[in-house]
Amino acid sequence: MFTSLAGRSVIVTGASKGIGRGIARRFGAVGCKVLAVSRHLAEAEAVAADIRGAGGTAEAFAADVSRPEDCEAMAAVAEQALGGIDILCANAGIFPAAKLGAMTEADFDLVMGTNLKGTFLSVSACLPAMKAKRRGRIVVTSSITGPITGYPGWSHYGASKAGQLGFVRTAAIELAPYGITINAVQPGNIKTEGLDGIGGDYIAKMEASIPMKRLGTVDDIANAALFFASDEAAYITGQAIVIDGGQVLPESLMALEEMDVVPA
Ligand code: NAP
Repeated sequence: MFTSLAGRSVIVTGASKGIGRGIARRFGAVGCKVLAVSRHLAEAEAVAADIRGAGGTAEAFAADVSRPEDCEAMAAVAEQALGGIDILCANAGIFPAAKLGAMTEADFDLVMGTNLKGTFLSVSACLPAMKAKRRGRIVVTSSITGPITGYPGWSHYGASKAGQLGFVRTAAIELAPYGITINAVQPGNIKTEGLDGIGGDYIAKMEASIPMKRLGTVDDIANAALFFASDEAAYITGQAIVIDGGQVLPESLMALEEMDVVPA
């Protein structure tokens, strides 16, 4: 797809499940050397083993992105095991729901500490290696929730995801002199194993609210991450791309009801 990616070293945080696992596998499939990171080593190692099983190159590392010392260790291991850090996919994130009134300070700090501070810490840890090479690609996983939409129970989550985009814009200016770009992907509703066990009714309602009438796949997100990480995207920085099947577009329910129904 993008010939510039083969042989590049990539750290993917939150790689043990969901979108991060999809990103790690896609980068592995195009010939990148992958460091799969999550807090649980066995689960990250299972993803690395998958990538190796498919003929790729991958290692695993356990790190909590909310801890500076873990992020420093993650970067050091990537340099040692993969020979450098060309690409960081700062994807780790959590989304526990709590409505205002019930949300505690600890709830707020946990979500901010993982999603927003974790992005800052992951990026900061990888910068020395990227600056030394005068080249780097950073792809942050934000969301439509926060920057564009809201959902009851997720005010802290939405703030963290909007905060990531603010971080990206200034970081892009600071990092441009070093040949480092930083961009974000904003997934809509993506089908991950987190939705397993959720009733078909819930999924059907989500699908009905999306003009493309389906949830996104992890590959839909991974393909955008691949593009931002490629040499071909060298002149794009500080930007965010929404990948949501058109979910944020309808201005009312009527807009969805007016859509043509085309037989499959
Ligand atoms: P997921 O399936 O729950 O996976 C989250 C990943 O992050 C896991 O690998 C988890 O592994 C890791 N993780 C969580 N806390 C961590 C920490 N403190 N340090 C390191 N790793 C940590 O979630 P997902 O749905 O794939 O979401 C991934 C990203 O996409 C998040 O940033 C989320 O906000 C964003 N997003 C998702 C959707 C969606 O529809 N799924 C939509 C918009 C945005 P461990 O538990 O082993 O640490």
